[in-house]
Amino acid sequence: APTQEMYFQPPPPPPPPRHASLATLEARAISAWFGQRKVLDRVSLTMQPGRVTALIGPSGCGKSTFLRILNRMHELVPSAQLAGEVLLDGVDIYDTGRRLTEARRQIGMVFQKPNPFPTMSIYDNVVAGLKLTGTNVRKSEKDALVEECLIKAGLWREVSDRLKSPGGALSGGQQQRLCIARSLAVRPRVLLMDEPCSALDPTSTRVIEQTIAELAHEVTIVIVTHNMQQAHRVSQQCAFFLAEHGTPGAIVESGDTEQMFGAPRDQRTSDYVNGRF
Ligand code: ADP
Ligand code: MG
Repeated sequence: APTQEMYFQPPPPPPPPRHASLATLEARAISAWFGQRKVLDRVSLTMQPGRVTALIGPSGCGKSTFLRILNRMHELVPSAQLAGEVLLDGVDIYDTGRRLTEARRQIGMVFQKPNPFPTMSIYDNVVAGLKLTGTNVRKSEKDALVEECLIKAGLWREVSDRLKSPGGALSGGQQQRLCIARSLAVRPRVLLMDEPCSALDPTSTRVIEQTIAELAHEVTIVIVTHNMQQAHRVSQQCAFFLAEHGTPGAIVESGDTEQMFGAPRDQRTSDYVNGRF
């Protein structure tokens, strides 16, 4: 029979995170303009370590703009202006003393349309990730790095015997995984994905979703998706963006994915996640 002591044992401590280096990315009161036009209004969101955050909402509500602001990519648009802060583990990535390339190295991006360098070999495509941010790796370490990144991107088994063939010869889904491998080459702490499966067939989409689930153990992931089933499957937290009646985009509701889909607090969230928009 259980003794009295057994009932009073303290609960076991929670398991440690699988990787101590998992990052928190926090956006604070982000507003954005293109010229005179305001497209985001005081968007605040904390993207927690080890969780996948899905950004959902209709076209034109500022999801891509927000995602780009998270790694300073919007600065490529000369008319873009910004207010607010983006903190990576508490450090403002917009601090003037910080180099732009450092922010982009720590916070990688994958786009809707797979964009590997088509004539470059699979191997060189992965290595190119280093060059884009000016990161150096010894020649002797490159082979291991390429293998590691291709494994993490879920592509290694399919391409290990043809690393010299051109990236452009792969299928669409494989090309997207090659782009993920390329973005992993600099060992980013956050990976931003803007509709990474929108150009892919359902089978390739599921393979990428599997890859995202694996990667989430070591990289904080933020994904924009129009596919509600996908948002439900891959994310643990969710933010619903809306730009109503010409107002700038803002977050209507954010929270745990299960709550957002199962018991949304706002009628507009309920309508959107149930396809009534
Ligand atoms: P989403 O990704 O949710 O579809 P976007 O962030 O792409 O939304 O766009 C938000 C708003 O900003 C839209 O009205 C769009 O027309 C505008 N916009 C996006 N990029 C630019 C740009 N480079 N110049 C001017 N306006 C832009
Ligand atoms: Mg977009």
